[in-house]
Amino acid sequence: MLKLSGNRELGNKFADLARGMQNLVFPPICIVCDNKFSSEKLPICSSCLSGLAPLPKAIRSKKDVPESLDDLKIAFLFNEHYRAIVHYLKYREYQSIGHLIGRKIAGILTLSDLVNSVVIPIPLHPIKYRTRGYNQARLISKGLTDQAGLKINKHILKRVKNTQSQTTLSKQERRKNMRNAFQITDDQHDIKKVILVDDVFTTGSTMDSAARTLKKSGVKTVIGVASAAPAS
Ligand SMILES: [Zn+2]
Repeated sequence: MLKLSGNRELGNKFADLARGMQNLVFPPICIVCDNKFSSEKLPICSSCLSGLAPLPKAIRSKKDVPESLDDLKIAFLFNEHYRAIVHYLKYREYQSIGHLIGRKIAGILTLSDLVNSVVIPIPLHPIKYRTRGYNQARLISKGLTDQAGLKINKHILKRVKNTQSQTTLSKQERRKNMRNAFQITDDQHDIKKVILVDDVFTTGSTMDSAARTLKKSGVKTVIGVASAAPAS
């Protein structure tokens, strides 16, 4: 028997297919701007997709690179437009949006110096993964690696601490909350350079904790790639 998460992912593929067939009969309406458009797969029109705003340099320069990361790259500004698009990925299970965002990230960030890196998505705790049925960072990573021709490793890093939402915590509290949240599943790995992928970058405590664990296991370089970050 398939695992629950596997079943859910398969179910979502069928849901995507069913939506595609339905769209042939009823032209879809964009979930962001309500205009009719033609697309087999996505619930968003092309003008809304191209409206995803790259993170302005002035905002990027105000973000501190977490201690354990060697560099940090952030693709988009987390504004209302981004939120509206990702809302459907998170809450209505349009997983294709995750792949698409990953592909777009590969298009706007300079990744050419990272050719020999292994992409590792920030894992969810197994309980959270079972509840949600998918990991957003993993979907984004898949799109990114497909587009950039990089390798992905979804199993080397696991989350052992089921942290609650961090939105009300201070930077210090988040750091403490994330301490020892990750573990390595294979001590014998030979990964030296990692691109660590997460969806939204806020204080960086999650990426910092994950990068610290990877470095303790022998990884030399960890570059953080986040899909989006808020202006402040
Ligand atoms: Zn639209």
